[in-house]
Formats: sequence, C-alpha cells, structure tokens
Amino acid sequence: MSSEVHFFDLGKWRNVLEGIDGLLKTTVGSDIGLGDRVAIKVHFGERGNYTYIRPVFVRRVVDFVKGRGGLPFVTDTTTLYPEGFRTTVKDELETARYNGFSEEGLGCPVVIADEPDGYGGLEFRVDGAAEDCRVKTTKVAKHIVEADAVIVLSHVKGHLLSGMGGAIKHLGMGCTTKDSKREQHAAHGLLFNYEKCKGCGECVEACKFSALEMQGERPARDEEKCMYCNTCMFTCDNKAITLYEDGKDRFQEALAHAAAGAVKALSGRPVIYLNFILDVTPLCDCAAPAGRLITQNVGILASRDPVAIDRASLDLVDKAAIMPGWEATPPDILGKINRTRSTIHIEAAERLGIGRSAYTIFEGNGE
Ligand code: SF4
Ligand code: SF4
Repeated sequence: MSSEVHFFDLGKWRNVLEGIDGLLKTTVGSDIGLGDRVAIKVHFGERGNYTYIRPVFVRRVVDFVKGRGGLPFVTDTTTLYPEGFRTTVKDELETARYNGFSEEGLGCPVVIADEPDGYGGLEFRVDGAAEDCRVKTTKVAKHIVEADAVIVLSHVKGHLLSGMGGAIKHLGMGCTTKDSKREQHAAHGLLFNYEKCKGCGECVEACKFSALEMQGERPARDEEKCMYCNTCMFTCDNKAITLYEDGKDRFQEALAHAAAGAVKALSGRPVIYLNFILDVTPLCDCAAPAGRLITQNVGILASRDPVAIDRASLDLVDKAAIMPGWEATPPDILGKINRTRSTIHIEAAERLGIGRSAYTIFEGNGE
C-alpha cells in the first residue's frame, strides 16, 4: 500500500497559482464546504528571514477555501525561543504583518493559534508512545484543534536538529504550545562541559528564563526553570554547552511523537498537507539568516499523508540540481548538511501510525 502524493513541477513552466488550485482540488475533494472554519497553518518567518512561503501562495489557498464557501483564517504559533520577534502574541502578529501576512493582503483574519500567552491549547495522549520517549502527550494550539478543517502549508528546508523540516515538523512543533515545544527540545538534553568553560558568565546573562546562575566559577542550570530554548548554547563561544551525543536522534523521536499527538487531535476532520520545495535553505524559517540556497526550486506537493509527503520531499530534494558551493551528496542532503539523518523522525512517525513512507507520485498540473 502506498499513499498518494500530487506534484506540481516548477520546471515545466506552468502557472504556479493555477498549480496550487489544482493540488487543492485534488486533495481537498468535497471535504471543505459552506461555513467550515478552515485553519491555514503557515510559518510567518522570523524577522530577517526571507525564505518562508510567500504570502501570495497563502492568499491563493485562502481564495480556494472562500470559493468553497469556507471561512479561512491564517495561523501560526508563538516561539519557544525568546530572542526573536515571535515570542508573544503581540510580537508574532507584528512580525506576521511585517513579513506580508496581513488580513488586508490575505483576505482573511490572521490568528495566533496558541493565544493568549503561547500556552492556549488542548492536550492529547500519544498512542503507542515509546517507553524511552519523554513526549507522551501533545498540547495542540487551540485555534487549530477547534477548526473544522486544517491545511498545513510547509516550507521544505533544512533544520539544525531534524535535518529536513516539512509536514511532520510543522505538526509536532509548529502546531503546538510552548510547553509542548519545550518537551520536544528537552529530549535533546543540554550538557555543560566544565573543562571547556571559562566561567565568563555570558550564558547566565543570556538566559531569559533565569534558569542559570553562577555557582563559584561555573554556571549551574535549574532544570525546572529551563525552557530548552538553547540560547545559552549558541551564546557560549567556548562550545562548553552541547546537546547529548544522541540529542538530535532523541529530538526527532520526540518530534514524531508530538506530531502523532497533533494528528490525533485533528482526527475526524480533513487535514491537507502542501509542501513547498522552494528556497531550500540549510536552516529553518526561525533562522535569520537561514543560509544560502541549496537546490534549484523544485515544486509543490500535496497529500493527505504527512509521512508520505515528507518522504517524497526528501527524495525530490535529493534529485534536484544542487547550487554551486554545496558538497553534500544524496541520500538525505539536508540531513548531512545538518549532521543528522532526517529519516529518524520520518520513520518514527510511520511507526506511530500517522502515515506511510511508501508513496505514489502523480505529476501534472497539480491534478
Ligand atoms: S558562556 Fe560558556 S564559557 Fe561562559 S560561563 Fe557559560 S558555559 Fe562557561
Ligand atoms: S538554561 Fe539555556 S536552554 Fe535553558 S532556558 Fe536558559 S538559555 Fe534556554
């Protein structure tokens, strides 16, 4: 058995907006109708990032939903890390507008899904959770859970911890509240190597959660207060703060578990995934900058299966023409660039039963 993945190939010189229409017609079928509240989940991009999904593509999805008589809203959640411009609902709305996601431009409301404070959500148990994974439940942002249908628009790009970021990443991290994001990051752990530590105290100053304090010449971390935002790790020039050796593997397992909880939260309603393999950067849309482009633009995929669409995206990135300056070779270019294997979270998601990595690709004008 394989899942259907529909592909709009940008290399074939067809109109991309019509391609989005075609992909939606094929995958939505008759499942969105009059009066349905439809959450269109996007990543608004961090301030200074410019490779997030273009607002014009999101507008086209909004128009499609309105054409069906639905009531769309475009939505994202706040971030765990505090140093960007999307940490609070107010900041996230301002950044959305700054990056081109406004009600006026999109033709529908822009809503922060985990309002009022980044913790607004409903908790769902992860069925079949592995004993050694700390994520047993997922708290899914309330405006996403309460929608009648969800369309998840994911930018396919690299990610420091998961290798590739696509639909699974968007479900597990992008659709959840701050406490759920914390649980996933806590899985990668945080270690202080006191042999490398020079006792400068910069990590303590950088921690916005007061989770670090100097004890003598060493920083000590309060696990209860720590949000695993990793700001301290990026601050330390001496590389004295690291993840567990297998931290990225553990993170990906946790991510897949959180995604499984999100899928459960949305069960019984249509969930459509569109993956945009455009502007493929080594880092995610939370990064500013996210790095130079890795491949030529490929196209857009649509599916009802988050595992299949991510597996197909990974394969298409591997087949794409690589930009000069990059040396990674297939398989899993994005994983290699980020020193991990992207397949860890894809395989874990499949094990948890939220999709199949076997797919059949249908090429055409999205239809
Ligand atoms: S920033 Fe690094 S070197 Fe400085 S105190 Fe923190 S861990 Fe030690
Ligand atoms: S200790 Fe480090 S990871 Fe934990 S909250 Fe502070 S800065 Fe973030």
